[in-house]
Amino acid sequence: MDKLKGFIKYERKEEQTIPVPERVKNYKEFSHELSNEELNEQGARCMDCGIPFCHSGCPLGNLIPDFNSAVYKNDWKRALEILHSTNNFPEFTGRLCPAPCEAACVLGIIKPPVAIELIEKYIPERGFKEGWIKAVPPETRTGKTVAVVGSGPAGLAAAQQLNRAGHSVIVLERDQKIGGLLRYGIPDFKMEKWVIDRRLKVLEEEGVEFRTNTNVGVNYEIEKLKEFDAIVLCGGATEKRSLPIPGADAKGVVQAMDFLRRNNEVVDGLAEPTEELHAKDKHVIVIGGGDTGSDCVGTSNRHGAKSVTNFEILPMPSESRTGESPWPYWPFTLKTTSSHEEGVERNWSISTREFVKDAEGNVKALKTVEIEWVKTDGRPQLKEIEGTEKEWPCDLVLLALGFTGPEKTLSQKLGLEVDTRTNIKAGEDYQTNIPNIFTAGDMRRGQSLIVWAISEGREAARSVDLFLTGKTDLPTKGAGDLPQP
Ligand SMILES: Cc1cc2nc3c(=O)[nH]c(=O)nc-3n(C[C@H](O)[C@H](O)[C@H](O)COP(=O)(O)OP(=O)(O)OC[C@H]3O[C@@H](n4cnc5c(N)ncnc54)[C@H](O)[C@@H]3O)c2cc1C
Ligand code: SF4
Repeated sequence: MDKLKGFIKYERKEEQTIPVPERVKNYKEFSHELSNEELNEQGARCMDCGIPFCHSGCPLGNLIPDFNSAVYKNDWKRALEILHSTNNFPEFTGRLCPAPCEAACVLGIIKPPVAIELIEKYIPERGFKEGWIKAVPPETRTGKTVAVVGSGPAGLAAAQQLNRAGHSVIVLERDQKIGGLLRYGIPDFKMEKWVIDRRLKVLEEEGVEFRTNTNVGVNYEIEKLKEFDAIVLCGGATEKRSLPIPGADAKGVVQAMDFLRRNNEVVDGLAEPTEELHAKDKHVIVIGGGDTGSDCVGTSNRHGAKSVTNFEILPMPSESRTGESPWPYWPFTLKTTSSHEEGVERNWSISTREFVKDAEGNVKALKTVEIEWVKTDGRPQLKEIEGTEKEWPCDLVLLALGFTGPEKTLSQKLGLEVDTRTNIKAGEDYQTNIPNIFTAGDMRRGQSLIVWAISEGREAARSVDLFLTGKTDLPTKGAGDLPQP
């Protein structure tokens, strides 16, 4: 195998997937494994550039050329050490990251970029298979206690790092199970939940304590947080955006997160399906063209929807980079996910005006109008196009419009300052206006990405360690300074 000319000799290879008619019969992940040799070859495509722009693309500062080189040499154990030095949970990002690193890959200027995310997925899989990923409890304890509120990727990363530094960490989580949106938002066909459980076992063995069904500020008194030397708030940004137009109270107009959450609970055996949150034999319209909307499409098709239609208010993006997002920036190009491939009619530049109800108050149609975006004083403004009104019959509408910010309970009860977008305000050291309270992940930056949540959890842990002991050996990230998706 040739590393020197690997980028010329070998083509980028993706995982093959199970055909659509088969995979929509269940909620399992649906890709076929690549062989060891194929993965070595993908590692050999990395050019080991003098300036690895991919580092700057990754919010974790993953040492990408180094682990690519180790995989090319078939030294998977070394690859794992390198990857774990910057990322606690590469099995999550290897499956779910939009891979801004690949958008910044130098090879991407002339050819398809190195399959970094794919390689990242296989490294921890190999590590678990070989038994290399084991609990590493701290040798000594500091006697300091830390409460982490919220068990999404930010909370889990903060908890593992702080535990490694020798502090006693308790994760308080209001849900029945640990994982945040990894467990209750992201469908199993994108990541099966044993992937979370497998990693949680390691954290538990290392000494992290998890308390579920513990809603801080609700069934767990806020005063009790005073028992801890430091607190890290990682409660996410889960306040759902609504669509306040006529008919919004119609039965069958449902928040996407309620729909997805119920489905994940049903798949996990935690709940029964309900008619209201199920798409079987229904004409479904998903409003919102992002990740959540795409997950609703995949879930609706698995439910057995009669049809699935997607609306996006923004214009259809271009298929390739435009001058507005040159390499190595994140390109805002058309994204076609595996869920889209499973069947959906996608519509762009469309605005919903009204939900039409039948006599029983059920949604029976949507009224829309096409729009265009015109620039006024340099800012894009929405303008309806006359004569383009249309009515779309439907039985279920899923609102995948994003989130407006964190819920207010914690900030209000703790007296924390928030920013203009209602996120909990913290400096670059993740410290809030109350010195021993820190915040990370979506709760600090607004709805974002798993890779950012892990990165913030790690960085916040470092600041907490510094705050508690006056010094820290926890690592800081090396890169991630390009504008991000
Ligand atoms: C449907 C959907 C699909 C997504 N897909 C992707 C994807 O493919 N790739 C990607 O990178 N990102 C994706 N994201 C975004 C990603 O999931 C989030 O950015 C990430 O999970 C944020 O992590 P977090 O730890 O900050 O918060 P969360 O994951 O939201 O976790 C917050 C946790 O805090 C708990 N909590 C809140 N308040 C309290 C309280 N008072 N007491 C106790 N517990 C509390 C919550 O129950 C929750 O478990 C998706 C998001 C959604 C909604
Ligand atoms: S975490 Fe995401 S951005 Fe970083 S190397 Fe992995 S795929 Fe790329």
